[in-house]
Amino acid sequence: MRFPLSMTMRIGSYVARKKLVGAKKYPMVLMLEPLHACNLTCTGCGRIREYDTHIKERLSIQECLDSVDECEAPVVSICGGEPLIYPGIGELTAKILERGKVVYLCTNGMFIRKKIGEFKPSNRFFWNVHLDGLKASHDLAVERDGVYDEAIDGIKCAKEQGFLVCSNTTVFTETDMGELDQLFTHLTSLGVDGFMIAPGYEYSAVEVREIFLNREMIRTKFKQAEAMFKKHKFNTSPIYLEFLQGKREMQCTAWASPTRNIAGWKGPCYLITDIHHKSYNDLINNTDWDQYGYGKDPRCENCMSHVGYEVAAAVGVNNKLGDTFKMLAWQFL
Ligand code: SF4
Repeated sequence: MRFPLSMTMRIGSYVARKKLVGAKKYPMVLMLEPLHACNLTCTGCGRIREYDTHIKERLSIQECLDSVDECEAPVVSICGGEPLIYPGIGELTAKILERGKVVYLCTNGMFIRKKIGEFKPSNRFFWNVHLDGLKASHDLAVERDGVYDEAIDGIKCAKEQGFLVCSNTTVFTETDMGELDQLFTHLTSLGVDGFMIAPGYEYSAVEVREIFLNREMIRTKFKQAEAMFKKHKFNTSPIYLEFLQGKREMQCTAWASPTRNIAGWKGPCYLITDIHHKSYNDLINNTDWDQYGYGKDPRCENCMSHVGYEVAAAVGVNNKLGDTFKMLAWQFL
C-alpha cells in the first residue's frame, strides 16, 4: 500500500461525492500558509521574497480553521514560511485532523525534535521534510551548513515515535538525479514512507534565474531518471510523472490546489499572484481559469509544478483510457 487505506478511502469517497453531484471545479489540496517567516533563506524560494513586507504577520489559528472549513479540500498542506515556528502549530494541526482531513506539515525539518511533543501520530498526518539532495548539495541549496544533518535527525526522531514521514524534493538545473537516487535509498533505510518530487518554478521574485529548468530540460531530466522512479516509493502519481517525462500533455488544474495566506486567497495559484481574494468562493468564481496554463500566460510557460498538475488525474481532468487502473495499481501495489 502506498498510503494508509483509510486515507485513500476518505479521499476517494470525497471525489466520488463531488462527481455524483456533477461538481466541475472542487478543491483537493488546501495550501495553507499560516506565516511566511522562515529560519532559512533557500535560494529558490519565492515566498520569503514575494511576501518580505508581510514577513512578521501571521494568520490566527481561528482564521486557519475558518479557511479549512471554507474550502472543504480533503487534504491540507501546512506550508509557509516554516510552519514549526508558528506558535500553536501542534494545536492547529490537531484541530485540522479533528475535522477528518489529511495533513501534510511541510518543514525544513530543523525543529522536529524540539517540537515533536506537540503532535500525536495519526494515519492521516505526514511530516513532509524538504530535502533537495545529500548533505553538500542540500546545505548549498538552503544556504546554511548543518541543515541536512538536522533534517535527518528530525526524520529519525519522527520515525522512532511512530509518525508517517515523507520527503519533498525540488529539482533545479544543477540537480544530479543519481545523487537523488542515493538520497532516496538512504531515506528508505530510515523508514521514510514516501517521496515527493517536482521541478522548481521560475519565481519572478527569485533573482538567480539560471537555477530553473525550462519545460524541455525538465522532461529530459525526468526521463533520464526512469529507473530511479521504478526503484523507490514515490508519492508522485504515475500520471503526473508521465507528464514530467514528456509522455503526455496535461491541462493545469490550479483551482484544485487553492492557497490561503496572510493576504487572502492567492489568485490564480500557489505560484503566481494577480490578486488576493477575500474568500475561497470569490477565487473560484471570479477567476478566468481559461486564461492560465501552458500556451496562454507567459508565466505558465515552464510550469510543470505539482500544484498545477499533480491532482489533475484525481479530479478526472486529462483522463485517458486505462488511467483509473494505473492509479489503482499505483496505490495498491
Ligand atoms: S500553469 Fe502553473 S503557474 Fe500557470 S496557473 Fe497553472 S499552476 Fe499557476
